[in-house]
Amino acid sequence: MPRLITAVSLVVLVFVSPIFGQERSTFTVGTATAARGQRATGVIAVPAGSDAALNTPVALFHGAKPGPVLALVSGAHGTEYASIIALERLIGLLNPAELAGTVIIVPLVNIPSFEQKVPHLNPVDGKSMNRFYPGKMDGTQTERPSFLITRQVVEQCDHLIDLHGGDLDESLRPYSYWTKTGNEKQDRLSREMVLAFGLDHIIISTDRPKDPQASRYLENTATTRGKASITVEAGHAGTVEIEDVNALVNGCLNVMRYLTMLPGAVTAIEHPVWIEKVVTLTSEQTGIFYPLVRRGTYVEQGMKVGYVTDYVGKVIFEARAPVAGVVLYICAVPSMTKSATIANIGVVAR
Ligand SMILES: [Zn+2]
Repeated sequence: MPRLITAVSLVVLVFVSPIFGQERSTFTVGTATAARGQRATGVIAVPAGSDAALNTPVALFHGAKPGPVLALVSGAHGTEYASIIALERLIGLLNPAELAGTVIIVPLVNIPSFEQKVPHLNPVDGKSMNRFYPGKMDGTQTERPSFLITRQVVEQCDHLIDLHGGDLDESLRPYSYWTKTGNEKQDRLSREMVLAFGLDHIIISTDRPKDPQASRYLENTATTRGKASITVEAGHAGTVEIEDVNALVNGCLNVMRYLTMLPGAVTAIEHPVWIEKVVTLTSEQTGIFYPLVRRGTYVEQGMKVGYVTDYVGKVIFEARAPVAGVVLYICAVPSMTKSATIANIGVVAR
């Protein structure tokens, strides 16, 4: 893959490698076991409980040389397709013979959502598969895989990247999240990871739960267990556009270079737009939504970003930006219900 390095984009990030005590000759996740220098695929077998069993697919790359363990996960929302396709591409791309360390890829957490084309939720139990971590084995079909992913993926990794994007009804511009925990060393590492990932808008996240037993989100499950981790988003409204997939694939490869798992210089984003707060604009009415701005547009407070009509054309709600900022995403479809999200506005940090 050709890599364009310019004086502008080349930033020196120095990863201070810890000592990797566990010189594991083989590495196992679910039914996949790989020896050094090998790859393996398999599943995390989630047994049936109050609802059906589920096989969560896993691809494992156990590098020829020791190094960090990086987990890459997508498809918690099974119709955020660009992120799923990006990890499918990485599965075809990574060569364990060239790798220092281990990569665990879980490309599709929410298979029922993917197969039935249901956004946001697991249609089997009606739950978001990125809200019930660390999960439990006596729970429903969202909670049982969450528990096994916590045990087999999060607890075995040193770093995690959770990949998302705009769902079927979300027109999203790419951005990432940097979680600030207050642990200086961990925060420096995750900050450098998010800069190496390279998306140019970064949300500073400070409001995630601190309790590892109530971590809710996947990335937060890793973060509250002391593992520097990030969340990234690219893709929108069911599309698989090459720019979005490339941004996610190249971001993962660049973080792997930063973590010294792959050779090569790290090209990091130099002056990203830091977002200090995300404000959600919701609809006060049910009806037909008409957007007036695109994803990524910078808006002033009070600016009209769209409107809602009833089903015979009468305007019943004007959606105005509650704050000045960047439209991180805006509703991509005309279906609108009262209290549903019209747009998320990112407030730029001063
Ligand atoms: Zn998502």
